[in-house]
Amino acid sequence: MGGEPTGESVFDVPLRGVDVDSETRCAHYHGERDVIAIAFPCCNVFYPCVACHGTCCEHEPVCWPPDRFDERAVLCGACREVLRIEAYLASEHRCPHCEAAFNPGCTDHWNRYFRLDNDR
Ligand SMILES: [Zn+2]
Ligand SMILES: [Zn+2]
Ligand SMILES: [Zn+2]
Repeated sequence: MGGEPTGESVFDVPLRGVDVDSETRCAHYHGERDVIAIAFPCCNVFYPCVACHGTCCEHEPVCWPPDRFDERAVLCGACREVLRIEAYLASEHRCPHCEAAFNPGCTDHWNRYFRLDNDR
């Protein structure tokens, strides 16, 4: 398990955002369960939320197309495992790796990150 990381750059992946804590909470979403960061295919950088992307980037965020849902683009801030998008979407608000609870409210925002063509 190792010691608790302190200070900057505790993540193995490129990650930016506003007031990001050690479990990827940010200035916009900082509830107990807001512990994921999602990479964007336009810049291949992880952000805790789309608003952080908007603050850090000049370009419009691009959603992941369904044929790339097998890519690892969702970082669990609790265990720092990078999950495949399809695993995250099927996770039922719980990290498949460490079982940390994810915020179910994120589901309402999935269409800002993932292109869910088969969504009803
Ligand atoms: Zn981008
Ligand atoms: Zn944010
Ligand atoms: Zn986890």
